[in-house]
Amino acid sequence: MCYNTELYKVTPNYLAVQINFNIFTKRVIFTVCYTVFTKLFVTLRRSKILTLILNMEQIHKQALLDRRYLRMARIWSENSYCVRRKVGAIIVKDGMIISDGYNGTPSGFENVCEDDDGHTKPYVLHAEANAITKVARSNNSSDGATLYVTASPCVECAKLIIQSGIRRVVFNELYRICDGIDLLNRAGVECVHIEDIESNI
Ligand SMILES: [Zn+2]
Repeated sequence: MCYNTELYKVTPNYLAVQINFNIFTKRVIFTVCYTVFTKLFVTLRRSKILTLILNMEQIHKQALLDRRYLRMARIWSENSYCVRRKVGAIIVKDGMIISDGYNGTPSGFENVCEDDDGHTKPYVLHAEANAITKVARSNNSSDGATLYVTASPCVECAKLIIQSGIRRVVFNELYRICDGIDLLNRAGVECVHIEDIESNI
């Protein structure tokens, strides 16, 4: 009897322990899952926000750099002997200036861009052409580079830009004839017009 009673007593307690353990286990699993999913969700949200912030910062940084390089191109244009119009250009690749140029006559010619009537001589090279041909004489490659130029390229320079592999053109003044820009757009070259190059915001 005593043996049986003990058994009778033990069995319900054992079951109770099992039931309690199961509830405890369920609660632990639920808590762990809840914590993991909550953290994953928060991390995902944070990473998206972080990516957005980083992208915005990158765009802002690039805009600042674009203005600085355009100011450098403008300073470089001061080297030009041309009276009617002074244009400067620089080529940047991987954060390095690999070439520069300004409009002027070919090497060995007199440094006079205009004839007696004040018209630009036909053999005057544009700033972009000078910068691109300067790369050709160096060990650098303009493939994938950015061209900064004080005035929007003409159609002849646009052809050279496309052929040299330059992927981005940033310019200050928009030339009245836009066929150069149209051609660049057609070739998939990114064109960026920045009017206010003094701003640092
Ligand atoms: Zn040109």
